[in-house]
Amino acid sequence: MSSLFRAALLSSRSSLLASLAPTTRSTLSARPLAQPHPPGIVRALSCARQSNLVMAAAQPESSSSAGAKISQPEWQIPQKQVPEPELKMYNSLTRSKVPFVPKKGRTVTWYNCGPTVYDASHMGHARNYVTQDIIRRILRDYLGYDVHFVMNITDIDDKIIIKARHSHLVRQFRAQHPQLTKPLLQTIQDAWSAYFAKNLERFAPPVPPQEQQGGLVDQAEKARAGEAGFEEIARLRQDAAWLKTASEKEPKFGMWFSALDRSRQAQVAAAMSLAASDSSPEAASNLIDASEDVLAAFLDKQFGSTVTDPAVFRDTAAYWETQFFNDMKRLHVEPPTTLTRVSEYVPEIVTFVQQIIDRGYAYAEGLDADKKNVWFDTRAFDGAKSSDGSFDHSYAKLQPWSKGNRELLEEGEGSLSTSTTATAGKRAASDFALWKSSKPGEPAWPSPWGPGRPGWHIECSVMGSAVLGETMDIHSGGVDLMFPHHDNEIAQSEAHHGCRQWVNYFLHTGHLHIEGLKMSKSLKNFISIDEALERFTARQLRMSFLLQPWHGRMDFKQSALGEVKNAEAAFNNFFVGIKAKVAEAKALGDGYSDGQHHYGDKEKALMQSLEDAQHAFRLAMCDSFDTPKGMEVLLDLVSRANVYEKSHEKRADVNLGVLTAVARYTGDMLKMLGLGEGAALSAASDLGWGVADDSVDGASAVNKEELLLPYLRALSTFRDAVRKLARSGAPASDYLKLSDALRDNDLVDLGVALEDTEDGKALVKLVPAAQLQAAKREKEAAAAEKAARKAQAAEQARLKRLENLEKGRTAPEQLFRTAEYSEWDERGIPTKDKEGADLAKKRRKNLEKDWDKQTKLHKDFLDAQASGEIQ
Ligand SMILES: [Zn+2]
Repeated sequence: MSSLFRAALLSSRSSLLASLAPTTRSTLSARPLAQPHPPGIVRALSCARQSNLVMAAAQPESSSSAGAKISQPEWQIPQKQVPEPELKMYNSLTRSKVPFVPKKGRTVTWYNCGPTVYDASHMGHARNYVTQDIIRRILRDYLGYDVHFVMNITDIDDKIIIKARHSHLVRQFRAQHPQLTKPLLQTIQDAWSAYFAKNLERFAPPVPPQEQQGGLVDQAEKARAGEAGFEEIARLRQDAAWLKTASEKEPKFGMWFSALDRSRQAQVAAAMSLAASDSSPEAASNLIDASEDVLAAFLDKQFGSTVTDPAVFRDTAAYWETQFFNDMKRLHVEPPTTLTRVSEYVPEIVTFVQQIIDRGYAYAEGLDADKKNVWFDTRAFDGAKSSDGSFDHSYAKLQPWSKGNRELLEEGEGSLSTSTTATAGKRAASDFALWKSSKPGEPAWPSPWGPGRPGWHIECSVMGSAVLGETMDIHSGGVDLMFPHHDNEIAQSEAHHGCRQWVNYFLHTGHLHIEGLKMSKSLKNFISIDEALERFTARQLRMSFLLQPWHGRMDFKQSALGEVKNAEAAFNNFFVGIKAKVAEAKALGDGYSDGQHHYGDKEKALMQSLEDAQHAFRLAMCDSFDTPKGMEVLLDLVSRANVYEKSHEKRADVNLGVLTAVARYTGDMLKMLGLGEGAALSAASDLGWGVADDSVDGASAVNKEELLLPYLRALSTFRDAVRKLARSGAPASDYLKLSDALRDNDLVDLGVALEDTEDGKALVKLVPAAQLQAAKREKEAAAAEKAARKAQAAEQARLKRLENLEKGRTAPEQLFRTAEYSEWDERGIPTKDKEGADLAKKRRKNLEKDWDKQTKLHKDFLDAQASGEIQ
């Protein structure tokens, strides 16, 4: 853009004047300030102008008849003064920032590990998915890549199987026990004992020897021992140090304890109900509700294998998937371009696994010939020559030092992987399941190895390859997935495709801690997305993530939210102020120009700040999406704009064009990062390109009515009151009171702030009504406090005065009539002391002084008494 053209765009009254004129002008500056041309159009217009010049220059040549060829002077290619930043991203495959080279032009293929859907999403999910969403938006909306973002839903998983079976069995149990009965209570007590023995018994102190000798053989005695043990634990956990050790040793301690505690209290209540012959359905369901956790595990052990209806598992996953996407929508996380579900890719998974077996990197083994597990052979794969001999395969590229970590490996195999059938055929501890043979009570799909289901890691290899091909540019997920999940995905895929590098850039979002601690249900610092959104807005949550490096560990602290709220307020105030000024300028139309361009040093400096900020922001985004730096740049720019604005004494001297340019850029970047709300948000996520507002259209007429009537009503009521005052000949102060009431009451409730200014014309701002009402309440409270203070001071002054008046109650002639003296003169001033001796001259003088003083006080007193001030 030429500097001339920029000046035309950004000045000034003259362009504003042109833009606000009702007639269409042919010049480039004729554009409404509030809706500038998108950059593309500006460029096109600018080019059109240039091409006119070119055509004008070309004409003489083509029409020249003299034969002498006139050529254009030599054009020079410009020299770059500031290099364009190159995008680098932090790659877990190198643990460093490396240049980003997508394989196919500006197309980026990206696979992100999605959620396992069996429970409510929490803040850890929020951080992970919001962060991916931010990076995706930067790549697409800022850096101009075409991103194909694939995400999976893990809807086949041991956790889902267990959760689905549990809720199904409890539901069934509930239907079988509509009334409170002794057998019902007995079953719950048995379930309670089993749960205690399995989970908490080891925390109880050892049973004293004499009780052991008694023999804890029968069930009732065992139950009694369990109860005694539980009581002992309940006592011990009062000690904070003991509780801390127990929770560190077993993070689920708190969860187990509260499940047992809840059930136990309900059992006591149920026993009392039974004693009072209350067998109501309500009593039964109270007992079952409070005992769900202990009961579910108990029922599953007995009847888990009878759950065979696939719908049970499907429904649980479908329910939580819907919840997950609802949560994502509320967090303004865009849905993936392509969504894949494991349950829909089982045939592809079977083929994929077979191929790995065929290549010699997996084996099928099992207890039965027709029920086999398939294991990935890590030892065969690690270090194996590729088929063309050009490279060696390598296992655990992301975290090679975790290769033998049994705990991590077992966790990766799933909660149902501990039985002998589940581990059957496994040759090495580091091998992992590609296909699991299903037991009764577990969903199953047909395969060459018998009925079974996919292992956890294989799904991402298969679905990523099915949608994106043999390799991909970016793969992402939470940092806790790095090993074994992502390392196993890489190994499977590279074994299957025979390729060297299945993923080029592996991005891992950092952990989230709450108030310095790992989030966990038992530590009571577990925050679901629901709860988080009750306390903060989606924008505040996203801003808190943007203010932290995306791959670092983040500590979510209530106290740190202050920083977020300050930043939010800084942007809000800036935008509200500018929007009000633009609206005002629009309303003023031609009258707004004073014939000056108002583009001096201050304006140039602010434009320079904008350019610097744009460059710094780009550097930050290209520096592995350094959003904390980016936010800092934008906040700094806003504060410079505020300083610029305040540097003018008169509002009319502020160059609105320059300020608008800053506001537009800042707003665009914030929206780009996903911080838009309301219309700004839906503009980005709605399909299509919206419709022009057509006021004749019925639907928008209704909207108009809804929108405008409250404002029109306020205006009309105000008019009525003005007319009434005029008719009654009211004084000017009544009119002022009326306009204050309009500003402070009616408009506040409508979300309109009127700011009185030096020129007598109020600045109109649109601010959320709740915010204005809160400010009004604050102002009223401050005024009430001031009045109270004033009243208190007045009361103190009154008491003080009464005290002084009281001193004057005694008449001066009575003042010295005490036993201290024996003779007085006619005014009542003593002349002799009690022994009858004359008073010394000096003493007399002092007494006279006191007498004079009392005379004055007494006069005041008498006056006050006469006026009724004192009795
Ligand atoms: Zn995955």
